[in-house]
Amino acid sequence: MSMITCSWCNKIIFPDENAVKFPCPNCGEVLIWRCELCRKFGRPYKCPKCGFTGP
Ligand SMILES: [Zn+2]
Ligand SMILES: [Zn+2]
Repeated sequence: MSMITCSWCNKIIFPDENAVKFPCPNCGEVLIWRCELCRKFGRPYKCPKCGFTGP
């Protein structure tokens, strides 16, 4: 089982956390995860594959 980490802060995301996941809107190949805190503070995300950043 691989650990899921937030794409912005690299915090490990637990299954019971209020995190979101979505495919990268630019390349669509990477599933981007945002942890609860990054959602709350409106931090951007960064795609590890293409480097795309967004709100
Ligand atoms: Zn991407
Ligand atoms: Zn985070």
